[in-house]
Amino acid sequence: MTKNNIIKTFPPTVIAKMKQFYQDWSITSAPPGAVFLAKLDNVTITAYQKSGKVMFQGANAEYEASIWGGEEQLVVSKENSQNSSHNYEPPANVTALSLIGSDETGTGDYFGPITVVAAYVAPENRLKCQNLGVKDSKLLSDQEILDIAEELMNFIPFSLLVLRNRQYNELQQGGKNQGELKARLHEQAITKLLERIAPVTPDAVLIDQFCSPNTYFKYINGKPNRSIPTYFKTKAESFSLSVAAASIIARTAFIKEMDIMSEKLGHAIPKGASHTVDQFAAKIMMEQGIETLNDYAKMHFANTQKAKLLAEKQ
Ligand code: MG
Repeated sequence: MTKNNIIKTFPPTVIAKMKQFYQDWSITSAPPGAVFLAKLDNVTITAYQKSGKVMFQGANAEYEASIWGGEEQLVVSKENSQNSSHNYEPPANVTALSLIGSDETGTGDYFGPITVVAAYVAPENRLKCQNLGVKDSKLLSDQEILDIAEELMNFIPFSLLVLRNRQYNELQQGGKNQGELKARLHEQAITKLLERIAPVTPDAVLIDQFCSPNTYFKYINGKPNRSIPTYFKTKAESFSLSVAAASIIARTAFIKEMDIMSEKLGHAIPKGASHTVDQFAAKIMMEQGIETLNDYAKMHFANTQKAKLLAEKQ
């Protein structure tokens, strides 16, 4: 079967040659980060100087790529095709790009903060991450997550933001919905990380999607002002090392915050938003008063009302 999507890596000298070779077919609107974008009959070629990656797409991809020799990269086919598509889908070669990934934890938990992390996996750190077992944090136990994160945080640049409950409740009561809070945190973490790793510039940003890109842009008051593209994809941690790394660090921060909070409260605080959580919240209400919950829980969750009913029945 002929392949119609091939990614190869080349040294800068070869990319310079290609650029010259394809100049008659080059299109001025090359994606950000690309050296050139050339459209020939039956094949489109996109080259990225920073990573040395060149993408050949179309019926003639295999032949065109063969002209230049070079090392071929594994192309992972796009999954999640059931998701509604939008203009900010990552390209098919996303796993070959150097990315800042971002993800968050704690948004579905009644107790505890929201932790948001942007993480950058440089090409030279990819193998190290894989060997360490960096993958979708949903496939890992809490202990595995903590162990991996401890190592990971030593060599991966990241930016972590923690929105604790008191402030979360203030913002929420002030009219900010959770989506807006998340979007602002993601954007802030990404911006901070880009500043931290400069002058290194990744190929793109990939956000583990929690709302439509247009809603995200509305929440952050317009499209981000940066030179590299921003992509959105649901379940991005299942195929992007950068998002997986971000999700592991975010989860770790959440677990550690919960441990500190449990110690302060004098009880082990349950995660999630189940009936166990309602019962625990009711217990805290009766023991320490409802105001105490303001420092520990997301008060607008239905769990607050359910806990109140449970407490009244006692
Ligand atoms: Mg997520």
